Amino acid sequence: MKTLKEFAEKVLVLGLARSGTAAAKVLLEQGKDVTVNDAAASYDDALVLELQEKGAHLVLGSHPLSVLEGIEVVVKNPGIRYDHPVVVEALKRHIPVITEVELVSYLTQQPIIGITGSNGKTTTTTLVTEMLSKSNCNVKLAGNIGIAATEVAETIQADEKMVIELSSFQLQGIDSFRPSTAVLLNIYEAHLDYHGDLKSYVHAKCNIFKNQHPDDYLVYNADDPVLKEHMADVRAKKIPFSATKNLHQEGAWADDTHIYFFDEAIIPLEDIVLVGKHNLENILAAVAAAKLNGATNEGIQHVLKTFSGVKHRLEFVGMLQDRYIYNDSKATNILATQKALDSFKKEIVLLAGGLDRGNEFDELIPHLKNVKAMVVFGETAAKLERVGKEAGIQVIEHAGGVDTAAKIGFSLTDEGDILLLSPACASWDQYKTFEERGDIFVQAVHTMN
Ligand code: ADP
Repeated sequence: MKTLKEFAEKVLVLGLARSGTAAAKVLLEQGKDVTVNDAAASYDDALVLELQEKGAHLVLGSHPLSVLEGIEVVVKNPGIRYDHPVVVEALKRHIPVITEVELVSYLTQQPIIGITGSNGKTTTTTLVTEMLSKSNCNVKLAGNIGIAATEVAETIQADEKMVIELSSFQLQGIDSFRPSTAVLLNIYEAHLDYHGDLKSYVHAKCNIFKNQHPDDYLVYNADDPVLKEHMADVRAKKIPFSATKNLHQEGAWADDTHIYFFDEAIIPLEDIVLVGKHNLENILAAVAAAKLNGATNEGIQHVLKTFSGVKHRLEFVGMLQDRYIYNDSKATNILATQKALDSFKKEIVLLAGGLDRGNEFDELIPHLKNVKAMVVFGETAAKLERVGKEAGIQVIEHAGGVDTAAKIGFSLTDEGDILLLSPACASWDQYKTFEERGDIFVQAVHTMN
């Protein structure tokens, strides 16, 4: 393994936040000459003071190009775009620009399970971690939903594996980072403002397997047309998954009754709590990655029989007077709400609405077949009301928030129905975050109990 000692001496950490702070700390501990540049952080932030105490040079409040003087490597916060003036200038001067996750390859040789895709990363990462933990394998979760990757890599033990959720932003900045198991869930057009075009977005995602060895694994979605085109470049062993019954006795697959890994039945579909075809894809990917890393069928079954979804992502909140309650507050766009609606066969009362981004929502109409009533709120209430009425559904326009909408919605349900918060809009017209909106909905449901 290369060590951080061999890593460049003079490093610029551009943008603090969680990953930048973690990178700066690791580099300072190794005696590197670290400059930290952040436009928003202030000189009296506790974190900034800690870095200063450890010897970091601080340049805060703006991004002068002089921060690049003598710098050999830039560690960039994944959120900072490549058209940022300091990044543009660094690349012009041929200074490598990496992200924090690249440092992991200098810190540990323990097996890494890296998970990426346009959608489903958090759900799949959580499932894999849980499946391995419940199989008594020692795993540590890192990345967006856990602790920063370098922090985990620094403390990882000889019998432990790391599970990391990886965004395309992180993957664009890797050079030698190598997961022993890589998972590629899907590639949809996303983040094109950041990556410039689809080609460089796909390229960033495919970085996940570029350093893999022939004895590593790549778990990939066999139904994704974009991914299929890039499989010829893969050196690792390819393990496909498919939710469309395309595979038989290969990789992770499903028929009408069970989930299988190669020729072994893992669990009956009826035992799985998580709903939705998109979640079946996440489950299949997770089963493959977990089985390849030593998970037992009992461990996997335990997780799939109990896991009700990551918070706010088509999360099963529970039963209330024989109604099924789901919180899908993370559905901040039309596509996510379509997926949620397609996940159920029962009758649904839908709560939707929020920030107006200029959508007309007509694309929802074909997915409203099982919706018997809608309660609409927020800036988009009138638009959603029009769409609901066009689909022949009872619609109540509501001026308050999700808490009162939940009560109105519940009064429209019958036993066996679903009450679903899946807003199809961002939350910022009424709430700080989609998490706050979801929490208020869940609280309102609990008070009705
Ligand atoms: P990410 O971490 O990639 O944002 P999440 O697991 O948090 O993904 O899920 C976010 C939303 O993305 C879900 O609420 C759902 O609408 C959608 N989604 C999840 N998994 C998939 C998938 N495999 N394919 C398509 N959409 C998905």
